[in-house]
Amino acid sequence: MVDFNDNDEQATFRTEVREFIATNLPDQLRLKPDEDRRFDEDDPDEKKAAIATWRAALVDKGWIAPMWPKELGGAQMTKMEQFIVNEEFTEASAPRLSVPTVGSTIMVHGSEEQKKEFLPKMVTGETRWCQGYSEPGSGSDLASLQTRAIRDGDDFVINGQKIWTSGAHLANMMFAMVRTDPEAPKHRGISYLLLSMETPGITVRPLVQMSDARGFNEVFFEDVRVPAKNVVGEINRGWYVGATHLDFERSNIGRSIGHQRELEAFRRLILAEEAADSGKSTLGRPGSERLDLADRFVEASIAKTISQRVISMQARGELPNYEASMSKLFSSELNQRISRTATRLLGLYGALRSFEDDHTPVNGRWATLYLSTVSRTIAAGSSEIQRNVIATRGLGLPRG
Ligand SMILES: Cc1cc2nc3c(=O)[nH]c(=O)nc-3n(C[C@H](O)[C@H](O)[C@H](O)COP(=O)(O)OP(=O)(O)OC[C@H]3O[C@@H](n4cnc5c(N)ncnc54)[C@H](O)[C@@H]3O)c2cc1C
Repeated sequence: MVDFNDNDEQATFRTEVREFIATNLPDQLRLKPDEDRRFDEDDPDEKKAAIATWRAALVDKGWIAPMWPKELGGAQMTKMEQFIVNEEFTEASAPRLSVPTVGSTIMVHGSEEQKKEFLPKMVTGETRWCQGYSEPGSGSDLASLQTRAIRDGDDFVINGQKIWTSGAHLANMMFAMVRTDPEAPKHRGISYLLLSMETPGITVRPLVQMSDARGFNEVFFEDVRVPAKNVVGEINRGWYVGATHLDFERSNIGRSIGHQRELEAFRRLILAEEAADSGKSTLGRPGSERLDLADRFVEASIAKTISQRVISMQARGELPNYEASMSKLFSSELNQRISRTATRLLGLYGALRSFEDDHTPVNGRWATLYLSTVSRTIAAGSSEIQRNVIATRGLGLPRG
């Protein structure tokens, strides 16, 4: 059953979170709803310094990895408390610094040594991780991956290539799914391996997206030696470790508490443009998408409910599977619909993206989102793959 209201304890906790944000969030990180720039672009150190101050306050509370045990840097929060933290942070536009998904996976499948070695450094931010799933020939059909790891004494030696590796150019650690037994059926010969990006033999080559973002990379491995003790779970059983990882990732992507806030900010913006008769609103014109905006508000409520279902399951200690796919699918497609509706309601101005141009609404935020949200329906498994998961595991339909 889904529980929507705070009980007394949760309400007290919510107040604590609000007070913490009010006291500790650096001014530079406070974002007004209709702004999307918080920093002076000419002063990159300003952002680093503000984030470092914020991180230190969060580390102190154990709120970077709220679910984890205190000895690993967490706060041992319940899932509901974590949800409250997420809601309040979103409401205040406070950056939600968190541990990478690989951390949650290590919590489930890792050895005690691996937990002690890798988890605390994720909390402090000493390690920055990237994800080595996809390969040029293996995306949706991940089990066909070819990057090879051959055992040599206490090490595995890796050769092959990953692609679409977000943040690899900034990361100092990676988890990689690698083939350790090419003779076994394809789901059985895979291992989930942790490695340092500073290991000799790794080359990172950036890829540029259509929104001009430079977040993706190709990563090449040439005789890269990784200690065998860095395999998470059993050797050759990494498919199941990777599946847990994806369920976590899809649950996170599906977290949808930001939609309502985003829509509210847009509602205020478009009403202000309408009132100013700036020409940047099509609200009153025939054929305008004004009714679509109402639909987006309804859908944002639905997304939140689906997200709460996932949280409620996690609160009971269950691992959401097709439920995470539902949340990811609905939320990522809603992101696209919201940015499309917003862009169209801003009329021709909605397509402008130039920061330099005074005519560009909110620094081109909506046009940029329109381009960048496309990728959210592909990352962590495309919408078609989520629908397959829901059809087979959720509805019990036969495989197509
Ligand atoms: C923003 C973003 C970040 C990413 N970050 C990472 C990362 O950090 N690390 C990483 O390893 N990868 C990452 N990826 C890659 C991502 O996981 C893959 O793009 C995704 O799994 C799809 O694989 P593909 O691109 O090879 O497409 P393909 O698998 O080739 O699919 C092409 C099309 O065919 C459809 N399709 C394929 N199989 C089926 C099927 N069985 N039924 C119905 N339709 C099907 C797909 O839905 C898609 O529309 C990222 C991708 C994006 C967009």
